[in-house]
Amino acid sequence: MKILFATSEMAPLAKTGGLADVAGALPRALAALGHDVAVVMPFYGAIDRRSVRPRLILPEIIADLPIGRRVLSVWRTGLTGSDGEEIPVYLVEDQGMFNRPQLYADHGREYPDNAFRFGYFSLAALWMCKGLGWIPDLIQCNDWQTALIPIFLARLPVLRADSGLGAVRVLFAIHNMSYQGICPRLTLDQLGLPPETFVSDELEYYGRINLLKGGLVFSHRLVTVSRQYAREIQTPEFGCGLDGVLRKRSADLTGILNGIDTDEWNPATDHRLAANYDAGHLIGKTACKRDIQRRFGLRPDARRPLLATISRLADQKGFDIMTEALPALLEDDQGGRGAQFVLLGTGQKEYHEFFRNLADRWPGRVGVELGFDDALAHRIEAGADIFLMPSRFEPCGLNQLYSMRYGTPPVVRRTGGLADSVENATPRALAEGRATGFVFTPHTSQALLAAVRRATKLYASQPAAWRSLMKADMAKDFSWSRAAREYERVMKQTLR
Ligand code: ADP
Repeated sequence: MKILFATSEMAPLAKTGGLADVAGALPRALAALGHDVAVVMPFYGAIDRRSVRPRLILPEIIADLPIGRRVLSVWRTGLTGSDGEEIPVYLVEDQGMFNRPQLYADHGREYPDNAFRFGYFSLAALWMCKGLGWIPDLIQCNDWQTALIPIFLARLPVLRADSGLGAVRVLFAIHNMSYQGICPRLTLDQLGLPPETFVSDELEYYGRINLLKGGLVFSHRLVTVSRQYAREIQTPEFGCGLDGVLRKRSADLTGILNGIDTDEWNPATDHRLAANYDAGHLIGKTACKRDIQRRFGLRPDARRPLLATISRLADQKGFDIMTEALPALLEDDQGGRGAQFVLLGTGQKEYHEFFRNLADRWPGRVGVELGFDDALAHRIEAGADIFLMPSRFEPCGLNQLYSMRYGTPPVVRRTGGLADSVENATPRALAEGRATGFVFTPHTSQALLAAVRRATKLYASQPAAWRSLMKADMAKDFSWSRAAREYERVMKQTLR
């Protein structure tokens, strides 16, 4: 299959969240299965030209839009595949459009023209295929940023005429329903989409345009990043206003749990860690814990359970209940064995303030880094004893998968990919060696606190059971090769 993976971010070039990790790994895993795969993404100002070393391959594509002519160019860099072959990554450049300091927002404020920017990027990806003379069998679109691709293919005759694009099939991947690309009707005109698309069973949404909705309606098949989330988004509670659209497409929607890059996230080889370790030799993890305690100025006590969170500081991630539960947890020092807590994250201002205050109030027990730091994220996954991820909803979640890989059992809420990936440590699951973490259901601080206490109690009172739990975590297969085979199956269905 010839597959184009259209995405607004891809690790390591540009990343704000889990989509970037998927985009950096799934194309490689599909290429390893023998497919002809390429990635297309915007050429952001933040992409480091010196390390990426792009080559200019299409110097000038003229894009005549209703609002005027734009000139874009396409550069090529690559991802190295498992067999050493390069997977092309095409970077769409348009001065002023993509080369801004950040991907979507500056100082927490969304760029006001985001819907137009990414609609235009979607169109550019198709022009690029024409320009390269490389027509994919299938385009995988991801989230609202590339949701207009199937609409352009279906509704812009100019693209279909003698370009071969008419036969292209589209698989749409939902990574998060809560970002939809809602914008005024004007954007539709600016992008040259016909007015007929402004109807309620196409792009119209309460008098405005909803790009995600368009992607859900027009794509040939839909996939999302866990089975549980596939069920949840068809309900009003999780569908973010589009559950009806999804129920109509229920037969075409599949849930596939994301994989993780097991080379990038490997405690046995991770060069960022103070010491390496694996399930057979856990001793290095102690050095990693000390490393984090030192880094955050915590008391260097090996016996206190070290809790950690790495996250966008967004409501989705359950910070409302975490900010209630943490003070109660810290108050209880368990006779000098109370938990320590470390946070790495950035996002909503109110949470910045909360965690800054928490660190001030609990020196030696709480460490906070308000920023984005990939290397530190690896060190924390390794150094922590318990990972907290009490999300209100979670399409897949990667951090709980990383934490399990690093032998750091997670405490998670039973939702989306968290429910699909973490096996609750009931006495029976523990005895059978199936348990991998601590799962709670009601979205309340009491339920979170109870789950954390279950974890810290097991950690403190049953070291052998805890070690078995760590080993069960580390033995789980969350590799992309499993997920890629499932994607391949769905892609074949999409071509039919
Ligand atoms: P989401 O995509 O909703 O943000 P995921 O758990 O799916 O959540 O993926 C988040 C990704 O971003 C993970 O790779 C995680 O390690 C990373 N990440 C999030 N916040 C930070 C941060 N402050 N510093 C480093 N990495 C982060």
